Amino acid sequence: TKKISPLKRVLVLVSRHASHLARQQYDVIVVGGGHAGTEAAAAAARTGAETLLVTQKIHTIGALSCNPSLGGVGKGQLVKEVDALDGLCGRAGDWAGIHFSILNRSKGPAVWGPRAQLDRQLYREFIQAELLSTPRLMVVEGSVEELLVSEPDPEEPGQHRVTGIRLSNGSHPISATSVILTTGTFLSGSLFMGQTKSPGGRIGDAPSGLSHTLKETLGLRVGRLRTGTPPRIVKDSVDLSLANIHPPDSQPVPFSFLNAHTHCKPEEQLPCYLTYTTPGVERVVRESFHLNCHIQQDTKGPRYCPSIESRVIRFPGRAHQVWLEPEGLTSDLLYPQGLSMTMPPDIQLRLIREIPPLHRAEIHTPGYGVQYDFVCPTQLNPALQVKSTQGLFLAGQINGTTGYEEAAAQGVWAGVNAARQALSMPTLSLSRTESYIGVLIDDLLSQGVTEPYRMFTSRAEFRTSLRPDNADLRLTLKGFEEAGCVSSLRYKEAVRVRNTLQDALSALQALAMSSHKWKKMFPQICISESKSTTLSGLELLQYKDITFEMLASAAPECLSPYMEFSQRLKIEAVYRPYCDLQKKEIKRIQKEENMALPQDLDYFTLPVSLSQEAREILHRVRPSTLGAATRLQGITPATIVNLLNYVRHTE
Ligand code: FAD
Repeated sequence: TKKISPLKRVLVLVSRHASHLARQQYDVIVVGGGHAGTEAAAAAARTGAETLLVTQKIHTIGALSCNPSLGGVGKGQLVKEVDALDGLCGRAGDWAGIHFSILNRSKGPAVWGPRAQLDRQLYREFIQAELLSTPRLMVVEGSVEELLVSEPDPEEPGQHRVTGIRLSNGSHPISATSVILTTGTFLSGSLFMGQTKSPGGRIGDAPSGLSHTLKETLGLRVGRLRTGTPPRIVKDSVDLSLANIHPPDSQPVPFSFLNAHTHCKPEEQLPCYLTYTTPGVERVVRESFHLNCHIQQDTKGPRYCPSIESRVIRFPGRAHQVWLEPEGLTSDLLYPQGLSMTMPPDIQLRLIREIPPLHRAEIHTPGYGVQYDFVCPTQLNPALQVKSTQGLFLAGQINGTTGYEEAAAQGVWAGVNAARQALSMPTLSLSRTESYIGVLIDDLLSQGVTEPYRMFTSRAEFRTSLRPDNADLRLTLKGFEEAGCVSSLRYKEAVRVRNTLQDALSALQALAMSSHKWKKMFPQICISESKSTTLSGLELLQYKDITFEMLASAAPECLSPYMEFSQRLKIEAVYRPYCDLQKKEIKRIQKEENMALPQDLDYFTLPVSLSQEAREILHRVRPSTLGAATRLQGITPATIVNLLNYVRHTE
């Protein structure tokens, strides 16, 4: 893990800035140094492209605009996948994490959600240090005012080509073969607090005016979304004894496949606290409704991260959870998750003081809302390139998503593809069957966005195969062998892991014994004693009460070399039958491509599990074959499997 002191950082920035001045042509330019932009720039440079990252303020590179946390259910899977592709956020999370926990632990490991509370400053410093030491990457402070595009080719009307950017300081244009826009909440951004509306992308930052080029020059469809953030509270003014303490996991599990430990020692982690809203909170929201112009707008906000105003209006009379989360190891502030609000600051103070631990709380920075433009993502191809503009890629909140992890995931993939395009290599896609990143991109492209999109494990049909524990085997090998964005160090480690796991699984397979013998060895397992069958160690490991450690102590000579992977082997054994079934289903769909779909099917009443949206699409289009149905926007592989089973069953 690298870390450079703030002074050295400034010196590096100055020298980078100076050396940049000589260069006016890049393979890839990335606009924006948020979560999408930093991953995109680093990935493009790793893939071999001379890359320039231009962002409004260098010191805000890697800033966590809202919550000081990373990962969670679905989002943690994305962090693991970005890490598997050699991205930054997993290692940054391990460096800056101050409270690690695995969410959803009571459920199967496929849907566990690795999550960490972060120290904001450490996170930013790590990302900045990484970027500034990445070969082939220049970082420059500036605001991109204009996207340069060539006139459409008369042979291909409507098809533009991006040629570079122009900064607002009036300097010369900078040319590039590919440009990635990752402008987050800044595109024509407006900030809201009480009855005040002002231009801005985030508090203290100016908005970006690039919407004009996107709409008027490129003819792209642009929509509007909103989000908000809670006030930050002075820690010393809070009576934490009135809240429930929530300790971290005693053994923090790192995000990165390269890290055996987190930077923060287990005993140095900080707790979070849980408290609840009272009827007084609801009263303040209702009384101040007329003073709160953000919530009176029709623009859609994040459904799964709603403001306190939306929560009390949608679910009146309830006590809503509020998490009090540390903002850093030495920070004086607490982040009240669940209290995003946009009323005037004096009313925000009145509201928080209605919550018992916050009776005498002081606000450091008031909450506010932001509304911004996004580009309808159905206009992109699977490489995240704008279909009608050669060389222009979009990633992050600009595509209608919400969250750092969703942004990082798109960023890494846009970075790989922008670099490949610039280096005259074919662009690549990730499928829904191999990654959550593939699910995310496919959902955006096929369904578009009507509200801010966030990841959930339920969005992935093949989630038993797309587990956090195996993201390295799914993506690191492909990232090195096909995409070229993974270092040889990480690749060698992934190959070692793959080979060792394969050897361990073969050893488990070969360890066959009669069920009677196994039962004698492990009386606690529930095996029928009436009839003896032969069971392999791998099959035995599928039993709930059997751990790899137990098998290794029974057969140390063949299993003890694999103790390092005991948990992965247990998970692999449990999920293997489901994954095999899923692989068969995928093959079956491919084989049944030409199966005719009866034209008189009433999709609205079909007695199979289909979403209302899928029923409407199938009813409208009436695909003639299963293959035609798979290619419809909005039709997922799960829908196809259900359709296939139904038609075959009724034949
Ligand atoms: P950002 O992190 O926003 O980064 C954009 C970057 O682009 C910035 O560095 C900016 O300076 C730069 N930039 C923009 N225009 C230009 C230009 N023309 N030239 C040069 N640089 C430019 N997420 C949640 O999941 N839940 C929430 O509740 C939530 N609430 C939020 C509340 C607020 C007020 C804000 C601002 C964000 C919130 N987010 C929330 C969103 C979260 O911050 C984003 O999802 C995430 O940061 C998106 O990453 P990004 O890289 O797309 O954009």
